[in-house]
Amino acid sequence: MSAINHFERSALNYFAASPLDRLTVKRRDDGWLSAQLLSPSTRIVPVQNGQNLIAHGEPTRAALLTPDEAATLLNAATPILLGALADVVYFAVDVPEEDAQVQAALAEYGSFRELRAVYADLDRFTGALMAYAKGMVYWHQRHKYCGDCGSRSLSAEGGFMRVCTNEACGAKHFPRTDPAIIVLIYAGDKCLLGRQPTWPPGRYSIIAGFVEPGESAEDAVKREAMEEAGVHVGRIEYQASQPWPFPSSLMLGYMAEAASTEVDLVDDELEAAYWFTRAQVADMVRKGDLKLPPDISISHRLIERWFDAGDEGKLADLVKGPAW
Ligand SMILES: [Zn+2]
Repeated sequence: MSAINHFERSALNYFAASPLDRLTVKRRDDGWLSAQLLSPSTRIVPVQNGQNLIAHGEPTRAALLTPDEAATLLNAATPILLGALADVVYFAVDVPEEDAQVQAALAEYGSFRELRAVYADLDRFTGALMAYAKGMVYWHQRHKYCGDCGSRSLSAEGGFMRVCTNEACGAKHFPRTDPAIIVLIYAGDKCLLGRQPTWPPGRYSIIAGFVEPGESAEDAVKREAMEEAGVHVGRIEYQASQPWPFPSSLMLGYMAEAASTEVDLVDDELEAAYWFTRAQVADMVRKGDLKLPPDISISHRLIERWFDAGDEGKLADLVKGPAW
């Protein structure tokens, strides 16, 4: 039996463990869906170009609209059922950017912002709701046409399916999320951190990459460690997962013990990768020479788990507040 409670550990991750009831069975009930879109307790979550609607003014809060407030938008786009919490049913709607009437109607309530820029000011439930809305809208935007025959597809079942309009095809398509691994590789008291050339100066993180067809997640951990850093890994332990709608990933977090430590940037995805002791991490973070990934990310959680297991104190005391 594993000693790790994976649910509890994943619940530490932003966007995970939302109490929202996804109402899977209700998605097929068109009458019920229509009734919810007339109910004043329903809330609409607008998404435009991957950004969420944030209310004007301070403090920062999400602009969640009643069907009345969102009437112009609901006339122009198909809502996607997200689920319910208590008596409130939530729908995401993809905002048509070119529709001046919709733009004018929404401008009254807020402006569109990147979730990464505002998450720290939102409560966990709202953050998760916005991430979920963003992920669903992204999938719809990229599946307007059938992947089998190229005909137009239409949203069905509250947005949890798209059906090809070509009767001869009729293919059904379902929302997808892309599994990616993220792994903290350690050797003795050191951990491997690398940086991509496009990152801000001083930013380092752990190894990550998409799982490819024909691989287990653990196979992907071994491959990515080798491709990005030339490092062989031995024992691999799953830790936790995180929905990561930037734009459509599911991050699977691992810790892995290095079986070799010589670094070789095989695929050039990283421009540098080094082994850091906890003392070096503490010292460099204090001096501002090392910028770890923001606390919104599972990479931060994994680095924190590793760091806090040593004698250098708590990472949370070194890294104050979110820094994206
Ligand atoms: Zn088709």
